[in-house]
Amino acid sequence: MDSPLRCPQCGALVVDRRFAACTSCHAELPVDWVLSEEQISKLAAIDQSARAEHAAAMSEMDEENEPDSTVTLTDESTTSSP
Ligand SMILES: [Zn+2]
Repeated sequence: MDSPLRCPQCGALVVDRRFAACTSCHAELPVDWVLSEEQISKLAAIDQSARAEHAAAMSEMDEENEPDSTVTLTDESTTSSP
């Protein structure tokens, strides 16, 4: 696995590899640490699909919880109508 990159100047973890500068001390980082636009768009696509999966999982949980609230809503409507 890739070991985390650290700034050669201040030793801060390089978390955002879209920019060729340390986020802590703004020292220049080796050019090959910086991701290309192609790599960034790939990462963005992976991130998006992960979020979509998460959203789908969350909506599934919502559906499981929903019957309770709909039952109370239908109860109220049946009592008001003759
Ligand atoms: Zn630094």
